[in-house]
Parts: sequence; C-alpha cells; structure tokens
Amino acid sequence: MKNLYIKKEECCGCGACVDACPKGAVRMLVDREGFRYPRVDEKLCVDCGRCEQVCPVRETAGSKSAKEEERNVRQYFGVQAKEEKIRYESSSGGMFPVLAGYVLKRQGVVYGASYGKDMKVVHREVRSLKELDSIKRTKYVQSSLRGIYKRAERQLKADRWVLFCGTPCQARGLMLYLKKSYPKLIVADLVCYGAPSPGVWRDYVKDLEKKRGGQITDFSFRDKRMHDSGHTCAYVAGGKEYEGSLYADAYCRMYFSNHIIRPSCHECRFCTVGRSSDFTIGDFWGIEKVKPELDDGMGTSMVIVHTEKAKEIWEAVKDQLSWFACEEKDVLQPRLTEPTKAARSRKVFMTFYRMLPFSVFRVCFLAAVSAASLLKRMAAVCKMWQKP
Ligand SMILES: Cc1cc2nc3c(=O)[nH]c(=O)nc-3n(C[C@H](O)[C@H](O)[C@H](O)COP(=O)(O)OP(=O)(O)OC[C@H]3O[C@@H](n4cnc5c(N)ncnc54)[C@H](O)[C@@H]3O)c2cc1C
Ligand code: SF4
Ligand code: SF4
Ligand code: SF4
Repeated sequence: MKNLYIKKEECCGCGACVDACPKGAVRMLVDREGFRYPRVDEKLCVDCGRCEQVCPVRETAGSKSAKEEERNVRQYFGVQAKEEKIRYESSSGGMFPVLAGYVLKRQGVVYGASYGKDMKVVHREVRSLKELDSIKRTKYVQSSLRGIYKRAERQLKADRWVLFCGTPCQARGLMLYLKKSYPKLIVADLVCYGAPSPGVWRDYVKDLEKKRGGQITDFSFRDKRMHDSGHTCAYVAGGKEYEGSLYADAYCRMYFSNHIIRPSCHECRFCTVGRSSDFTIGDFWGIEKVKPELDDGMGTSMVIVHTEKAKEIWEAVKDQLSWFACEEKDVLQPRLTEPTKAARSRKVFMTFYRMLPFSVFRVCFLAAVSAASLLKRMAAVCKMWQKP
C-alpha cells in the first residue's frame, strides 16, 4: 500500500484508516495548510486492504449505503429542547443533548467533539451528564478521531448503547469501520459547511493568547447570550470573558469566507439529504419563514429521521422537545444540496499564511477583506448612479 490518496481532495481526514490498520502502519501527518493526512509506513504494511475498505471517500456511489438510503422513508422536524438550559447551552435547538440523554440513561456512551490540550479539538467518550457539557456545542475546527473508532467498537461488542455525533464523513467512516450494524448504535451526523484547518486554529489561539495575555480555556463559536441565534462568539482568556460578533472574529471570517476549509470538503458527497446515518441534525435555516412564532433567537434544530431505529428513538424523546413536522423543502439549505465553494483567493491566502507570522497575517487578511468589501460597495453605488 503506497498511498491512500493521490489528490488532497480524495482524503477527508476522518482517520478511520488509522484505527483500522492491524499493523499500526498508518499515521496522520500535518500538511502546510494545517490539515492531517494519512501516511503509510511501507515497512509495516502487509497489503491487507483494510484501510481502503473503511475509507468514506473511496466508497462508490452505487455502494450498499446508497441502496439502504433509497429504502428509508425519511421524516423531517423542527425541534427545540423544552428545557431552556439545554437549548441555551447548545448551538441550535439542543437535539444532540436530548439524544445523548437517551443513551446515558441506558448506561451507554456518547462520542462528540471537545477541547483537549492547547484547545486542540478531539473527539472523546463521555459516560455521564456531567461530562456531556464538554462535547456539546459546535467547534468550527476539524476534530481528531484517533482511537475513537476502536473504542466505539469495543463498547458495542460489550452490548452498550453508543451515540456517535460528528461530520457525515466521520459518521460514514465509523459505519465502514464497524463493517456491520449494531442494534444499540445511534449515528447522528451534522449538516456540514466544511472542516476548517486545525493548524490555522492553533495559530489563531496562540495569537489570541498573546494579545489577551492569558491562556484560552474555552471558546464558544455559537454563543446565545445576545439572543441572536448563536451569532456571537465568546471565549475565556486568562480567566476573563470576551465576546463579539461571529462575523467580526478573524478566525470565523477566514472560515466563512471559505479560505481555511479542507480541499475534500469542496467536493464533498455528503451535502445531500440522503444519508446512511440514523439522524441528521443542523440549524433550522429559514425558521422565520416556516414557523415565525418559534424564531426567538435561541436556536432551532432541524432533524432528519432516516431509519426505523431512529423513528423508535424519536418517539421516546419527542416529549422533551417542542417540535413540528415539516417537509424536505422546509429544511433544505445550501449544505444539503451542494458543497461549499472554495474562495477564489484560497491559494493566495494559504501562500501568505505559510509565509507570514500569524499576527501580521491576521491584520493583512482583515485589511484585505475590508478593502474588498469597500470596493464591492463602491461598485454597487456606481452601478446605481449609472441607472437612468
Ligand atoms: C464544522 C461544522 C460545520 C457545520 N455546518 C453547518 C451548516 O452549514 N448548516 C447547519 O445547519 N448546521 C451546521 N453544523 C451543525 C450545527 O452547528 C450544530 O452542531 C447542530 O445543529 C447540532 O446542534 P444541537 O443544538 O443539536 O447540539 P449541540 O449541543 O450544539 O451539539 C453539537 C454536536 O456537534 C458535535 N461537534 C461539535 N464540533 C464538532 C466538530 N468540529 N466535528 C465533529 N463534530 C462536532 C458535538 O460533539 C455535538 O455532538 C455544523 C457543525 C460543525 C461542527
Ligand atoms: S493495507 Fe493493511 S497493513 Fe497496509 S496500511 Fe492498509 S490496513 Fe495497514
Ligand atoms: S479513511 Fe479517512 S483519513 Fe483515511 S484516507 Fe480515507 S478519508 Fe483519508
Ligand atoms: S464537508 Fe464533507 S468532507 Fe468536509 S468535513 Fe463535512 S462531511 Fe467531511
């Protein structure tokens, strides 16, 4: 086995191949854009092919998963956790913590993304409601799943309930890794804008720590203190809290202007409604049009129920939610129809990111973005003047 991918677009970085290799021959290495890619040690490799079998990018469109999807009859919902605290502490309507509660009540385990050492984003296993807080809330950084596929399999073999929540490619990686379905496995995948670079995140955190003169210990990308549907980000540096608009934060601007998203995300095949997971969860975009009375600025989740198992679980948890049934067209949003397009200036951005110290790069980026938006506005005004 020489290489698991040729073009960068062919690897989403899910890490399933690392856990799957029986010889420990696959390691993740960081590239110059700050993303992790697998490297095979040919001396250890015995050419068993297991790493290829678990790869969600290699899987073809006519695979079993696609056929399974056709059989499923989907249901669509808008939901808000009835318990205000749950909704407040989640990024959307709190569907994930409600599902997690279902599993934890049955002495199961839940996997989700948390902050580890130096604010690195890693998936971890939690076993109690107290631990659950660390894996709630959206982290706009690609998470590392090292060892998680193996752990989940061990728990399932021990007949425990398992809830896995992650990006669709990670969720599919888990399903391929497991080879078979387990009655006590619940897979919830997210609507996914794309995975931002962990390297850029690390540099941003270091830069912010320098600026604030203290260590960052928490970062909430979708904070709800302003009742603005989570369009505020808040963080703790040196024990002090800071907050600001999501769109004014340098890192978030890099993300939402499509400069720091993984190459594979721009060709992602999971930007669809049809998935092989049990649940798909995301923000209910357009709630103000579909149910304006629910648009209170505190978040609503959209939920797609894909499987019979998910329908049973939905019946068991729906009393903890204020919910309404809707149609596919109501939940549709860009990331359920097509992948995010890369910024035209992504290449230039990455070149300067590699060349400059991050603090200088950040200032240059913000200046360039402001100049570009000023030019755009000026062009629009000129156009208006030219109109008869
Ligand atoms: C990178 C990313 C991009 C997203 N893009 C969109 C989008 O375009 N449109 C949309 O509608 N929704 C998107 N979401 C999903 C949305 O932000 C919420 O996570 C989702 O609605 C669940 O919210 P909740 O209130 O039910 O639960 P929450 O309590 O907010 O739970 C969030 C769940 O996501 C998991 N998670 C958090 N960060 C990561 C990560 N980096 N990698 C993998 N899993 C993670 C957590 O472990 C938890 O299980 C995105 C999420 C991520 C992580
Ligand atoms: S072919 Fe087998 S031994 Fe070689 S890297 Fe892949 S999983 Fe490991
Ligand atoms: S399994 Fe995941 S990390 Fe490994 S090559 Fe495939 S996409 Fe990349
Ligand atoms: S956009 Fe697609 S490839 Fe990228 S993280 Fe999300 S699911 Fe994976």
